[in-house]
Amino acid sequence: MNVPITSLRGVGTWIAAQLKNLGIETVADMLLHLPTRYEDRTQLLSLGELQAGAPALFAGTLQNVEIKAGKKSSLLCLLNDGTGAIVLRFFHFSPAQIKQLQIGSVLHCFGEVRDGYYGLECVHPEYHILSDANPAPEIAQHLSPIYPTTGKVSQKLLRGLVQQALDFHPLPEKLPAFLLQQQQLMPLMQAINFLHQPPKNTPLAALGTGQHPAQRRLAFEELLAHHLSLRSLRHRVELAQAPILANSQLLIPQLLNNLAFTLTGAQQRVFQEIQQDLQLTRPMQRLLQGDVGSGKTIVAALSALQAIEAGYQVAIMSPTELLSEQHLQVFSHWLTPLGIKISGLSSSLRKTQRVKALEEIASGDCQIAIGTHSLFQETVNFAKLGLIIVDEQHRFGVHQRLALRNKGLQSGQSPHQLIMTATPIPRTLAMSVYADLDTSIIDELPKGRTPIQTVVIPSARRGEIIERIRHACLEGRQAYWVCTLIDESEVMQYEAAANTAEMLRETLPELRIGLVHGKLKSKDKAEQMQAFKERELDVLVATTVIEVGVDVPNASLMVIENAERLGLAQLHQLRGRVGRGAVNSFCVLLYQFPLSETAKSRLATLRETCDGFLIAQRDLELRGPGEMLGTRQTGVFTLKVADLQRDQALLHEVQQVAEHLLINYPENCEILIQRWLKRGLDYGEV
Ligand code: ADP
Ligand code: MG
Repeated sequence: MNVPITSLRGVGTWIAAQLKNLGIETVADMLLHLPTRYEDRTQLLSLGELQAGAPALFAGTLQNVEIKAGKKSSLLCLLNDGTGAIVLRFFHFSPAQIKQLQIGSVLHCFGEVRDGYYGLECVHPEYHILSDANPAPEIAQHLSPIYPTTGKVSQKLLRGLVQQALDFHPLPEKLPAFLLQQQQLMPLMQAINFLHQPPKNTPLAALGTGQHPAQRRLAFEELLAHHLSLRSLRHRVELAQAPILANSQLLIPQLLNNLAFTLTGAQQRVFQEIQQDLQLTRPMQRLLQGDVGSGKTIVAALSALQAIEAGYQVAIMSPTELLSEQHLQVFSHWLTPLGIKISGLSSSLRKTQRVKALEEIASGDCQIAIGTHSLFQETVNFAKLGLIIVDEQHRFGVHQRLALRNKGLQSGQSPHQLIMTATPIPRTLAMSVYADLDTSIIDELPKGRTPIQTVVIPSARRGEIIERIRHACLEGRQAYWVCTLIDESEVMQYEAAANTAEMLRETLPELRIGLVHGKLKSKDKAEQMQAFKERELDVLVATTVIEVGVDVPNASLMVIENAERLGLAQLHQLRGRVGRGAVNSFCVLLYQFPLSETAKSRLATLRETCDGFLIAQRDLELRGPGEMLGTRQTGVFTLKVADLQRDQALLHEVQQVAEHLLINYPENCEILIQRWLKRGLDYGEV
């Protein structure tokens, strides 16, 4: 099944290494290494038939050769075949080349034909001079595939290898015939053969859109393999035993009683779903989706209590130290009065503190451990871990999540897992990315929130905005000023933020201005956040470190610089830092003039709506799923053939077929996963 690429003739270690760079290690990989485009060399056109605007294969007799002097001298060769003429134009040429171009010789050429000064012309065609020793090349029987490659592997080599693979190592069909028929899918090898060697007269346009039945067949199988992979992972976890966490009789009612608010209907509903899961012996694998500010943290705290009352520990993982610090505070505020002991494992702990914390976690003295992914990287041993909560999972990436899950899975035992995210993912996409999880959605914001008013303003008018900040802060409100520099190093980000803070301090001497950025020690970060929370600061200048989770309800104004350079989902996240209290909130998106049309329409989306799902949908349309899920997610969703956006319509069927295969053809599932994902999904370190 996994025939190594070195079984093909002509593949030694050097070529094998080059192919590996292209992701080709097996013969199957070679067959699934599909052309990015095609050239039509199936017809030798007479010069009279040539049309400008398309690449073509043509031949003619050389009638004239001359060097045209000018700013950029060029070599012009006139070909004629009795039906028409064409000029070949070369900007780079050598004396040796000119010597070969004898008047009267016949040339076979391939190149893009265009309208030129002298009629039709072709710039730098590939050409072949006919002679007795050099007869005319054979006319291709198929469209010529052009493969993705590095400089070191030629098209010719790839074509040869593909040919061998097609001839001697066809891939076995793993979709049962009735499914092929039901889904109107082409047989596998027919599709693969077609795409490597499309027959003459296949319209290139159909292939270009990726909608050809052959492409559809492979896209279907690829999406299916991904889906199966997530499902089989889920299945593996389901086989493990989880602790039964019975409903809490004491702690949860106490916390609810102490809260300054009552849960929204949506919070109650999703918590019930979680409670039911926690009472099963099967590990919970639940995704909690809820827009920014919808109140996921309290749901996490309630879930934690259920585990704790049952005698288990809880690990809470967040993507940034800043968020961990905040969680430490919020959870302490809620749970310390109930006698619960919480440890924060941040990098700012002194050695002795850290050792102590680790001891308490290992002995079971401490019931909740809060930290970043380092929680699972290092030697943190839990006495009795019952529940893992991952906050803002979209910042972690799919394979980290999966690696984490494997980590929890020990000797057939697994803690329950609650995964929370504020990045609403359109349903079809969620079906593939989170195919291994059950989903709960908080679709309601707490009462009393006023919608955030968003304005889009050129950066040149920042003076007005600064005045507005002065005004708001003197009235007792607080503001964030977010400095973003995409693509720049963290150092530059830091400098930009430091400069802005300096500028604001000068312009607004009556206000207290703080600064947080990624390079601050987490203790200092926490101090600045705390000061801001306690209203000892009026304005917090920040880099995008505050993007996730930060919660300061009195902050009601946010300025985001270079907004045009951020993704919609990220802007929505940032903006979600305001609008958490009852006062009117504003978000100012500053941009550098001029704005492109797409940038305009993206920023307009934010101005028009605060609905995270709508924004996500727009983001998906404007940028495509790869961008939207972020590069952090690529580990899993680097698709070879399929395109989550274009092939959305297949996802529903994929799900159904997966269901059927898992039950009736489990061995086929394994092979399909191997074929498309090689190592499966359980790779990667947290
Ligand atoms: P997110 O879902 O973005 O993590 P948080 O859990 O941080 O949101 O909640 C945002 C704010 O709303 C917090 O200040 C939280 O205390 C508050 N909150 C949560 N639930 C409610 C509720 N039912 N009623 C009023 N305020 C709530
Ligand atoms: Mg949160």
